[in-house]
Amino acid sequence: MKMQLDSENEWGYFIDPQSFQVVEIIDEIPDGSFVVIKEREYIDDIDRTVIQTSYGIVEGKKYQPLNKRELTKIMSTACTDYILSSNRLPPKILVEKELKQDKSAQLAFIMTNYDTFHLRIDKNSLGGLNPAELINSIIEKETFKPTLYDREEKWKIEYAKSGRSKCNSCGAAIEKDSIRVGEPYFFETYLNYRWNHEKCIFWQRLEKDDIKGLDLLDDSDKVRIEKLLDE
Ligand SMILES: [Zn+2]
Repeated sequence: MKMQLDSENEWGYFIDPQSFQVVEIIDEIPDGSFVVIKEREYIDDIDRTVIQTSYGIVEGKKYQPLNKRELTKIMSTACTDYILSSNRLPPKILVEKELKQDKSAQLAFIMTNYDTFHLRIDKNSLGGLNPAELINSIIEKETFKPTLYDREEKWKIEYAKSGRSKCNSCGAAIEKDSIRVGEPYFFETYLNYRWNHEKCIFWQRLEKDDIKGLDLLDDSDKVRIEKLLDE
């Protein structure tokens, strides 16, 4: 299908699901393509230009908008098919450093510097093959080794270095030098934390192994937090 973009403020890319090649949109987008469109928009209130991203897929010569999660799911399936049929990894793919046996594998598809998709390759979609084994065997025989990245999923506990962070649960500031507890999340491929007050954490849902930084706390704090975790 043809897609008309406002050449001044809009630009975009499509990804061929068979090759995972990223192509800048001129006008024609082949059927089946994954589509990412960027739009530059000036926002009066904050006197700033922001870039909005929208996602979709072209099916039956029609553009169907999706959210990022939906597109990521479809891309994960296409990536699985790619791996199974070619016995290689798509280009521009990062592999998480520690693939766990019998768990789904996470691959990061770096479309541009600003757009990363975290694709999930699970055992079911591989027809029962072990994702870690399959991906490791591919990496071993590739001459160009893919970049590895850390999928850090641990929470973090520490003393607030400043009073600037806000609690993700209650919204109030977290005082300097008081304990803050961070929930991990990814922005593109960078690991970030959403910080919370100690009192705003629902401790029962966490375990000691889920958190790093406990050993760096003062003894009395460490003992208290460990008790909360044990409850
Ligand atoms: Zn709070």
